[in-house]
Amino acid sequence: MYARSFIDSLDFAQNGKQIDAEVPFAELPRLLDVLDNPQGVLQYSLHGVLDSLGNPALDVRMSGLCQLRCQRCLKGMEYAVDYESRLLLRDEAVLEALQDDNEEFDSILADAHLDVLELLEEEILLSLPIAPKHDLGACRAAVNEKMQKDDRHPFAMLEKLKRN
Ligand SMILES: [Zn+2]
Repeated sequence: MYARSFIDSLDFAQNGKQIDAEVPFAELPRLLDVLDNPQGVLQYSLHGVLDSLGNPALDVRMSGLCQLRCQRCLKGMEYAVDYESRLLLRDEAVLEALQDDNEEFDSILADAHLDVLELLEEEILLSLPIAPKHDLGACRAAVNEKMQKDDRHPFAMLEKLKRN
């Protein structure tokens, strides 16, 4: 079992703490649901900072190759996670008051017991393509589709139905 790390997020930001670590994708259960297989390791860094206005924030970076499932052929495809974002730490009242999206940076709840892996997992899930697909040349299904199309005009069947 992989040790989960928890941080006091405000303390982490105010004291400029930092974590540089890695975790196998296999340890991120919610992410596994959308992956083709659990291969790969995620490198991440979390830096506590105060922004120019003195707001506590986390600068988060993640990279690593995971295996998404191509939505055309349902086979695995390599996907490079390349994530970099500043997350402002807000208390609950402020978060509720924010009509989100108007801000330059995303906000998260300033949690005294923030589950680091859960945060990373959430952020990756939000950043993934909704329907990942191989490039056409690399996708088995696309090649098959093309062959079928060349074989038979797609409207041929329709014409036949009309005539009957
Ligand atoms: Zn494919």
